Amino acid sequence: MAYIILNRDNFFNNLDIISKQTKSKDKIAIVLKDNAYGHGLFEMAEMSKEYGIKKAVVRSCDDAKKIEDFFDYILVLGEIPSSASKKVRYTINSLESIGNFPKRTLVELKVDSGMHRNGVLESELREAFVRIKKAGLILEGVFTHHRAADELTSEWFWQNENFKRVKEEAKALADEFGLSELRFHSANSASLFRCENFDEDMARVGIASYGCLEGNDELKPVLSLYAKKISTRELKKSQRVGYGGKFIAEKDSIVSNYDFGYGDGFLRCASNRYIAPNGERQVGTISMDNSSFIAQAGEILIFKDARVVAKQADTISYEVLTSLKSYIKREIV
Ligand SMILES: *Cc1c(COP(=O)(O)O)cnc(C)c1O
Repeated sequence: MAYIILNRDNFFNNLDIISKQTKSKDKIAIVLKDNAYGHGLFEMAEMSKEYGIKKAVVRSCDDAKKIEDFFDYILVLGEIPSSASKKVRYTINSLESIGNFPKRTLVELKVDSGMHRNGVLESELREAFVRIKKAGLILEGVFTHHRAADELTSEWFWQNENFKRVKEEAKALADEFGLSELRFHSANSASLFRCENFDEDMARVGIASYGCLEGNDELKPVLSLYAKKISTRELKKSQRVGYGGKFIAEKDSIVSNYDFGYGDGFLRCASNRYIAPNGERQVGTISMDNSSFIAQAGEILIFKDARVVAKQADTISYEVLTSLKSYIKREIV
């Protein structure tokens, strides 16, 4: 079976670099949603704890439960719980949802500062505080998300300006409603690395910790993927390989089939053009459970930097990584 190797040194290298940027380990909230970007929720939670990370961000209540023992603080982005927790904080994504949280739930309010996806509008802040109080929820933080922190345009700047205003208003409202001091955060990986003097309460860091932040070569990819050979054959010039016979041998060649296909997370749109790190060329259409390469080794390194696959598949490393199925064996070295 194809398998994944997770490199602990690279992960810790990335966390060293990230903590320089946040100025403290305690301000890193490691984003572990979607099976830790395909790396493995348990594996990454365990290594994060070993490094001394105390905060994590996940999508679901179920994920939060699985990693509860590894962290002091967990933020759930996308679900409303059935009961309150002492450790887990839940995101309020809309005014209408506020009445659906159980009493005494620890919550953080997401504010739409320009992405126009989730979150309450700046004009709805007061109403949000009113409803939170009425519902008996415990508001601990206010946060936002950038729509284009990875693009060097003005958007990042005006969204920061918008959030700065939101912070002032939220602080005033917290005073008025007699709440304790709120936690504020807006940075994801790209945003954190654009800050010259990071001064928020925490940063929600995903892709940078996995070492695949575009334009940063100091961060090292944590995940690499290997596949094992199923069979080999000699192709005569002009014979074809795979579904639809999309690859035609230009000369006599040796082709082997390896046990990693689109069903396992190999993006099919990279078919017939992807070149593996050690030079093996992928030929023919990628199948569900396997794919062919001009190679004959018993095992090949399929990728060690998801950004390279992403380029070939015309997508982003996030999709390459989160496509990796959870049943693939993961080993930490
Ligand atoms: C996924 C996510 C992040 C992490 O983004 P990266 O670009 O991977 O650092 C941060 N905040 C929110 C709200 C997210 O959904």
